[in-house]
Amino acid sequence: MRLTVFLTSLLSSLTLVHAVNTTVACSLLNGLLPGKVAYPSSDQYVSDTKHWATGSSSQASACTVEPSTPQDVALIFGVIQKTRTTWAVKGGGNTFNPGFSSTDGVLISTVRFKDIQYSPMSSTVKVGAGNLWDDVYAKLIPLGATVVGNRVPGIGVGGFSLWGGISWKTQKYGLGLDNVVSFQLVTPTSQILNVSAHSYPDLYFGLRGGGNNFGIVTSFVFKTHPQGQVYAGVVTYSGLSIQQEYVDFDTSNKDPNAYILPIYVYHGGVLSTNALVFYDGPVAPNGTYDAFFNAANLTSNDVKTRSFLEFQQTIHIPAPTRTATHVVSIANYTKPIVDAIVTQHLNLSNVFADAEFIMFTMEPLYSSIFDSSNGGAYPHTSAHPWKPFNLFLGYTNPASDAAAMAAVMSAATAVQQIAIAEGKSSLDAVLDINYAGLGTDLKYLYGKNLPLLRTLRAKYDPHNLLSLTGGWKL
Ligand SMILES: Cc1cc2nc3c(=O)[nH]c(=O)nc-3n(C[C@H](O)[C@H](O)[C@H](O)COP(=O)(O)OP(=O)(O)OC[C@H]3O[C@@H](n4cnc5c(N)ncnc54)[C@H](O)[C@@H]3O)c2cc1C
Repeated sequence: MRLTVFLTSLLSSLTLVHAVNTTVACSLLNGLLPGKVAYPSSDQYVSDTKHWATGSSSQASACTVEPSTPQDVALIFGVIQKTRTTWAVKGGGNTFNPGFSSTDGVLISTVRFKDIQYSPMSSTVKVGAGNLWDDVYAKLIPLGATVVGNRVPGIGVGGFSLWGGISWKTQKYGLGLDNVVSFQLVTPTSQILNVSAHSYPDLYFGLRGGGNNFGIVTSFVFKTHPQGQVYAGVVTYSGLSIQQEYVDFDTSNKDPNAYILPIYVYHGGVLSTNALVFYDGPVAPNGTYDAFFNAANLTSNDVKTRSFLEFQQTIHIPAPTRTATHVVSIANYTKPIVDAIVTQHLNLSNVFADAEFIMFTMEPLYSSIFDSSNGGAYPHTSAHPWKPFNLFLGYTNPASDAAAMAAVMSAATAVQQIAIAEGKSSLDAVLDINYAGLGTDLKYLYGKNLPLLRTLRAKYDPHNLLSLTGGWKL
C-alpha cells in the first residue's frame, strides 16, 4: 500500500517535472525563434501536428516549431538539452508507427526547408528536408530528370530517404538511401555538418538507414536520373485475383524496366485487387503485361503512355484513422506463398470485419534491387535481394490497437513460415525499415551493424537526447 502511494506520488511529480520542462522549452523557443513557434489550435500547430494516419500517428504537442535554417535547429537542440523536454522531428508525417514523428513535447516540423536546386552538370539535386516528393518531381520531370523518390503522392523526402525508400526506379538505381550524395545534418550537440562519404564517413554510413538517430537532416543532395514518358496505370480486378499471373511474372521477369505492384484490398466488406503497372519507357515490349490484361475478373484498365508526373499523381491510397502494419522479406513469390497471403488476408478481414481497409502488397521487384547498394546502416546486399511483402490494417477504434497489431504480426508470421518452408525467406532476413511494425527487434532492421551503430550514436549524441524522442532508437 505504502509502495503504491509512493509510486503514485513519484509518477505525478515526474509528470509535473515533464510539464514544467516542456512549458519552459516552448517559451524559450518562442523567445529565440519569434514567429516560428505555434501553440494548440493555431493553423500552424494544426498543420504541423497532422499525420497521414491521424488517429494513431498524431499527438497533441505542447508547441510546434518551424525552423528555417540549420542554425535554428542548432538553437532548438540547445533548448532541448537544457530542459530535457520530449521532442520529435516530422517530415511529411507519413510514418505508420505511433510516436515516430509526434510527441507530447516540442514537435519540430521541417516544413520551411523547401529549397530545391537542380544541377544538370553534376546530375544532382539539393532538396530541403521539408519537401514532399511531389515538389521534387514537379520541378525535375519537366526537365527530363527524376530522383529515386516515393511511388505515390504525399510522402516526405525525410523519412523515406533516411530509413530506406522503395521507388519506381529502385530496380535500376537502388533504394532512396543509395542515392544520397550528402546530407546537411544538425547533430544533437548543435554541430552543423555537411556529411558525405569523404567528410564524415562514419555519419554517412549511419544516416543511410539510421533515420533520426544522429540528429535532424535539413537538406539532402540526391543523384538524378533521366526520365521520359512511361507506360503505366492502374488495373483493377474483383476479388483477390492474378495469383498465378503474379507468380509467373515474379519468376520470369528479367527486364528491370518492368514493374507491377498488386495490392489485395478489403474495403467496405468487398475484396478487390488493384495492380499498379509501371514500365519505365513509353512502350512495354510485346507480351510484358498480357497475362494481367487478359486475366479473369478484370474490372478496369487505365494503363497507357503518359508522363511520369501524371501517373504518380493519379495514384490514391486512402488514409486510415489508425493503422497497424508489418512486413515480411521474401526472395521470390511461389504459389504456396501467394496462397498463404490470400488465406491470411481472408482471415484478417474476418477477424476485423469492421476494418476501414486491409491492404496486402506484394512487391515482385527485380533481383537487382540491392545491386546499387554501397553499404550503410541498413544492411542490404546484392547477395540477399529481399522483396517486401507489406501488411496494412486501417481501423478506427483506439481500443483495438493491441489486437490490430497482434493480428497483423500473426498474419506476417504465418506467411513467413510458408516462405521459409519454400526456401524463400529466412528467420534472420532484414526487414524494410519504413514498413516494419512497431515493436520490431532492431536486429531485424540492422543485423550485424547494430553494435557499431550504437557506438556511433553515443559518439554524436553524448547527452542522449535520443532517449527523449521516438523512432527506431539505436
Ligand atoms: C500512403 C503511403 C505510401 C507509401 N509508399 C511508400 C513507397 O512507395 N516506398 C517506400 O519506401 N515507402 C513508402 N511509404 C512509407 C514511407 O516511406 C515512410 O512512412 C516514411 O518514413 C515517410 O516519411 P515522412 O517524412 O513522410 O514521414 P514522417 O512521419 O514525417 O517521418 C518518418 C520518420 O523519419 C524521421 N524524419 C523525418 N524527417 C527527418 C529529418 N529531416 N531528419 C531526421 N529524421 C527525420 C521522423 O522523425 C520519423 O521517425 C508509404 C507510406 C504511406 C503512408
